[in-house]
Amino acid sequence: MKFAKSGNYFVIRLIKGEEIVEELVNFCSQRAVKSGYFWAIGAVDSAKIGFYDLNKKEFNFKKFNAPYEIASLVGNISQVDGKPFLHIHTVLSDENFTCIGGHLEEAVVGVTCEVYLVDSGINIERKFDQEIGLKLLDFQ
Ligand code: ZN
Repeated sequence: MKFAKSGNYFVIRLIKGEEIVEELVNFCSQRAVKSGYFWAIGAVDSAKIGFYDLNKKEFNFKKFNAPYEIASLVGNISQVDGKPFLHIHTVLSDENFTCIGGHLEEAVVGVTCEVYLVDSGINIERKFDQEIGLKLLDFQ
């Protein structure tokens, strides 16, 4: 990972082989980014994405072991138990220009991954919601 910073804006380049979610969680943890948002483009060599089944209250995850373009990747940063929690969605496109997408659990950088990240400076926590079965953004 390489990055540059100006105020609360970060430009990050993830390197081939790095796992995107782990790298960004560590980045936020090391720089005390408590909430914010980011977007990225680039490519992956593999990705695990999910669809949330509200009836079962669980994610149905699927792993894709192939190269994809990151056509879009957007995410937000909040806190769970004092640690950074990233909620990320993505759309990936393959060599036939077909897209898959969903809730991103993990992805390994293929060619490159260019991330623009903003630290909002707002402290936002997530709390478990019984009805939904997920930790949702909490406002007091
Ligand atoms: Zn999601």
